[in-house]
Amino acid sequence: MDFLETPDIQILLGVAVALVVIGASAFYIYASKKPKGCLDPENFKEFKLVKRTQLSHNVAKFTFELPTPTSVLGLPIGQHISCRGKDSQGEDVIKPYTPTTLDSDVGYFELVIKMYPQGRMSHHFREMRVGDYFAVKGPKGRFRYQPGQVRAFGMLAGGSGITPMFQVARAILENPKDKTVVHLIYANVTHEDILLKNELDGLATNYPDCFKVFFVLNEAPEGWNGGVGYVTKEMIQAHLPAASPDIQILRCGPPPMNKAMAAYLEALGYAPEMLFQF
Ligand SMILES: Cc1cc2nc3c(=O)[nH]c(=O)nc-3n(C[C@H](O)[C@H](O)[C@H](O)COP(=O)(O)OP(=O)(O)OC[C@H]3O[C@@H](n4cnc5c(N)ncnc54)[C@H](O)[C@@H]3O)c2cc1C
Repeated sequence: MDFLETPDIQILLGVAVALVVIGASAFYIYASKKPKGCLDPENFKEFKLVKRTQLSHNVAKFTFELPTPTSVLGLPIGQHISCRGKDSQGEDVIKPYTPTTLDSDVGYFELVIKMYPQGRMSHHFREMRVGDYFAVKGPKGRFRYQPGQVRAFGMLAGGSGITPMFQVARAILENPKDKTVVHLIYANVTHEDILLKNELDGLATNYPDCFKVFFVLNEAPEGWNGGVGYVTKEMIQAHLPAASPDIQILRCGPPPMNKAMAAYLEALGYAPEMLFQF
């Protein structure tokens, strides 16, 4: 083994070891890097509609393709996207939407959309067909979520206001290290109006200790065991975590509901820093 002691061989061995170390480090950095998102906060980017599933007479799920099968949208939990379309007069309209998919869903993202007869963006969604491109910009929004940020979330959602709640709840529940408990009150007019009903029931079944949902209907069918009428102060007391510095109440619904809920929460002693409206 005398040849290992010659200076030339020692230099060669040193270079080889250095190359192996550099290669291994580069591979580790590459492998541990999160995939790059597809959104641009400044410019609209176009995504192709690849599937449209009608869920009820006025609700549909829209599936958009990302540039490659391994691409992720890159939307932080609790944030939304700005979408641009044309209303029935051909005028540009921009509205916020929260995908029901997470970055664990690779290659595509989905929007669940409720279309209103007179709604400007609703018109665009009604007209959109598979193969069409849709302009999206983001991420947008003031809400940021870090696992363990609070002990429990209370959520007050009305109608299509469920989508940001669903996104946050899914992210928490599908992360085995996140022990945050989620209590949701979800209000709608009729049973047919409840969005993501199967998915929410699935979360309640799969995560009974961490996810509780209480549905409220203005017009309840016979045998209904949820709440009836509008969401009341008593329902909040019974189904959401009590005011405390380690909880937060999130709300997203039509403006009259948000206003009524804000008054009830204040009366129940929730401090402003415990409240967030999407
Ligand atoms: C953070 C955030 C995320 C959102 N995510 C989603 C989502 O994932 N899916 C989704 O469907 N929507 C979502 N919305 C609501 C969405 O941004 C639009 O407000 C909605 O699609 C209506 O827009 P429009 O242009 O069709 O109606 P507009 O032209 O604004 O409204 C026209 C008419 O439609 C009716 N209308 C509109 N909104 C409501 C309502 N909330 N309740 C009752 N009647 C209404 C009213 O009659 C209104 O006069 C979200 C909103 C926010 C703030």
